[in-house]
This record gives sequence, C-alpha cells and structure tokens, in this order.
Amino acid sequence: MIKIKSDLCKGCDICIESCSKNVYTKSSKENKKGVYLPCPDNQENCNNCHLCELMCPDQAITVEKDESNKKSNVGDGSDKEDVEE
Ligand code: SF4
Ligand code: SF4
Repeated sequence: MIKIKSDLCKGCDICIESCSKNVYTKSSKENKKGVYLPCPDNQENCNNCHLCELMCPDQAITVEKDESNKKSNVGDGSDKEDVEE
C-alpha cells in the first residue's frame, strides 16, 4: 500500500521518474498548494523496493507491504492530511 501525504507533496515528479515499475501516474487532482499529485495507479506492479519513498525530498510517501489492498487514491485538494488507499 502506498500512502501519499498530499499536504507535503510539491509535485516534483521524482517518485514518478524513479519508479522502474511505472506505478505512478500524474493525477489531474491538485492539493491545496495547487500541485498536481502523483497517483499510484499501478500498485499491482509495486515490488516494495521503497525507492520512491527514499527519493522523495519531502517524505511525502510511505510504502507498506499490503498484498490485499491494490487500489489507490490521491488527495482531492481538501485539507485532509493523508492519502491512502
Ligand atoms: S517525490 Fe515526493 S514531493 Fe515529489 S512528486 Fe513525488 S510525492 Fe510529491
Ligand atoms: S516501492 Fe519501488 S516499485 Fe513500488 S512504487 Fe516505489 S519505486 Fe515503484
């Protein structure tokens, strides 16, 4: 399971570019800073390498092993703190 803290994300896309499994896509949804968030749309491809988590300069990503939960969500621009699936 991949969680993205929408309030911390600055939309640098490092997570999208660093993931060799193409787990992330760019969302059309913005957070409250007007940033278009990454969306872990293809979580079924994730091998839990944690690279995206390590590469994120703002510690906005948490990768947890959870085989039973494959779908994902991104922030909706509201004041909600965390985004998870
Ligand atoms: S690397 Fe972190 S700050 Fe950059 S787009 Fe991904 S989640 Fe947001
Ligand atoms: S943990 Fe690895 S495979 Fe999974 S989304 Fe992050 S970079 Fe991609």
